[in-house]
Amino acid sequence: MYYDPAETLSREDISRLQLSRLRTTCERAARSRLYARKFAEHGLRPEDVRTLDDLRRIPFTTKQDLRESYPDGLNAVPQEKMVRLHVSSGTTGTPTVVYHTAGDICWWSSLVARCMHMTGMRPGDVFQNTTSYGLFTGGLGMHYGAERLGCLAIPMGAGNTQRQLKLIQDFKVTALHIIPSYALYIANFCALNGIDPKSLGVRIALVGAEPYSEQTRSRLEGIFGFKAFNSYGLSEMNGPGVAFECQEQSGMHLWEDAYLAEVIDPQTLEPVKPGEVGELVLTTLCREGMPILRYRTRDLTRFLPGPCACGREHVRLDRITGRSDDLIIIKGVNIYPMQIEQVLMALPEVGQNYLIELYREGPIDQIRVKVEIKEEFFVEDMRALNALRQKIANKLRDEILVTPKVDLVEHNALPKSEGKAQRVVDMREAE
Ligand code: AMP
Ligand code: ZN
Repeated sequence: MYYDPAETLSREDISRLQLSRLRTTCERAARSRLYARKFAEHGLRPEDVRTLDDLRRIPFTTKQDLRESYPDGLNAVPQEKMVRLHVSSGTTGTPTVVYHTAGDICWWSSLVARCMHMTGMRPGDVFQNTTSYGLFTGGLGMHYGAERLGCLAIPMGAGNTQRQLKLIQDFKVTALHIIPSYALYIANFCALNGIDPKSLGVRIALVGAEPYSEQTRSRLEGIFGFKAFNSYGLSEMNGPGVAFECQEQSGMHLWEDAYLAEVIDPQTLEPVKPGEVGELVLTTLCREGMPILRYRTRDLTRFLPGPCACGREHVRLDRITGRSDDLIIIKGVNIYPMQIEQVLMALPEVGQNYLIELYREGPIDQIRVKVEIKEEFFVEDMRALNALRQKIANKLRDEILVTPKVDLVEHNALPKSEGKAQRVVDMREAE
């Protein structure tokens, strides 16, 4: 059961289509100020791209390039042809802007509809979008996709959990788009308010926008009784709809008719060996307003080997383990926040929120993990709490190879955000 004939393309067809679209994309891109300059600097003309291997002759595009091109240096068509812009959620410095033509919005929506259909959503499903609207692409991006598929879309937006739950109940919502940290928060909210999350009747959750572990997925599926599908995207590549899990739930199919993907070693910038983890690099193949070539996403993942049982031949991405800039180095050991999450979410005593703090003790970097504990385990017996703290510290040490300080806190004690969660606070500079 496919939504779009493009889903069934063979490897050979995918390559043929990618080459013709890459050539068109290079021609379009050369009309923007950024690529006109980059091509000139590299002595490259769009017509020099004759094979897919020629992709490697094209220079990379970085977030910095996008910032320096603010506000419209990547536009490949006159502004009158644009119908929408999104500004990225970046917290520091100049934001990055992505413009879309009507055609761009059209294919973005159909990609998102394709993803939704792949998870089992169908016309007649009632879809509630629990992420913020506005500039965040997970709002309008998912919304347009759901409407395109023929679902009833409820643009609830972020926060206001009581109202979220009321709408889910009153309109018999069957599918949700939700950020993992917010899904955990709702689970906690339900527990505190005597609501059985399974009674909500949600079948499908599209869960993404920030990294989460397999352990978090199992936890959410167990609590809500829905199937949680991993959803990957980034504003520079539209937003949601870049890669998505099928019903096999084993890796996310990246739509190769719309994006050309590479995985590179972030140091050498060479492709990694097949199946190795590296930085994902993406090229838009359908965008007309603002094509982007070889964008360094900073997201770390790998191509999963072998075919998918669903029959689709579009390459699958492994769960994003983090961003290359998320790396924490403590006492010379490399740690990704996702490793900490995996350990915590597998422990039944641990509640739905945690925070990693980096601080300095004299000249030495230290790591502290604040962990919310479920109410039934937050007892007054000091010995029991100390034993639990020790257990968590040991489990974390086994995974990350340094022993963190562990603070146990009551549920709801840690700050929560309405959008993407901030899991790491670095206090080393301030001290
Ligand atoms: P933005 O475009 O600013 O909303 O953020 C896009 C970034 O969110 C990506 O580059 C990833 O770092 C992160 N992201 C989005 N979806 C996922 C996902 N399913 N798993 C892990 N990280 C994700
Ligand atoms: Zn599949």
